[in-house]
Amino acid sequence: MKQDNLIIALSKGRIYKETRPFLEAAGIIPVDDPETSRKLILDTNRDDVKLLILRATDVPTYVQYGAADLGVTGKDVLCEHGGEGLYELLDLGIARCRLMVAGRVGEPLPEARRVRVATKFVRSARDHFARKGQQVEVIKLYGSMELAPLVGLADCIVDVVDTGNTLKANGLAPLEHIADISSRIVVNKAAMKMKHERVTRLLEEMKKVVTERQQ
Ligand code: AMP
Repeated sequence: MKQDNLIIALSKGRIYKETRPFLEAAGIIPVDDPETSRKLILDTNRDDVKLLILRATDVPTYVQYGAADLGVTGKDVLCEHGGEGLYELLDLGIARCRLMVAGRVGEPLPEARRVRVATKFVRSARDHFARKGQQVEVIKLYGSMELAPLVGLADCIVDVVDTGNTLKANGLAPLEHIADISSRIVVNKAAMKMKHERVTRLLEEMKKVVTERQQ
């Protein structure tokens, strides 16, 4: 890929769909559709702009190491990554949800022993309970967290919640709110210097959409 390309990393599905209007406002229109194409590098109407289609959790890593100049990623993913090598520059206000602690309905968390927490958000879970001065055992999972309290793997989970329907369908209820989540634009620190004009212009166009939507 050419050195002077502007490379934007994002994940397919909801983030791609909801990011498209922001890209279009900045004059960037994807040529390929990630939902039907198997290509991982997508061309756009602009010769110098390419899109990388990645696993959501890999977006900060590609941006951190400069393989992408900027990316769109959820605050939940960003908290887990830690944010090294990145600037978090714009909240797009899309893919909103909440990071929450949830447990079985009507069952308080045990007090006589260490609470077991199942989650894929290990860092956020540790930080949350550490802030409360509560020692917990964190069990790393990669999906279907809701199952863990039902089969005795854990006392509670830390997961992202939107409508709460998934929790309810599994006999779980929210216990504690950890953070409000939405998608953010992150920029590689070196790219911010080397490609300053193009990156700031893109961010300005995207910011206009954010402001319009807030009115
Ligand atoms: P809900 O039943 O609407 O609360 O949605 C809960 C499930 O959808 C969770 O288990 C998440 O895996 C997923 N989910 C909802 N919103 C988001 C989001 N903004 N980002 C990532 N995953 C989400």
